[in-house]
Amino acid sequence: MTRKITIRFTSFRECPNCDGRGDDGAEWRPVECRRCKGRGKLITGVEVEDSKDGILPEDRFEFTATGEVYLLDFDEDEEIEVVKPSDEGRESG
Ligand SMILES: [Zn+2]
Repeated sequence: MTRKITIRFTSFRECPNCDGRGDDGAEWRPVECRRCKGRGKLITGVEVEDSKDGILPEDRFEFTATGEVYLLDFDEDEEIEVVKPSDEGRESG
């Protein structure tokens, strides 16, 4: 069975660069905010659940404010299925 890693974003904060608007251009020329990549939010909390080890402690992964999650100490030869959250706020089910 393939090892499965499920990523969830657990907390956010409003992007201070664009005040949560998602763009930092002028009204007449919107530009996607570089800091939050147009989300308007920065990710401040991530939960990673491993089908083998359960919820991983924070020292087993790193994440960025834009939602990139990097797993640490994983065997590269192992086949891992990573389940990333789809657009937050659009939960299925
Ligand atoms: Zn922003």
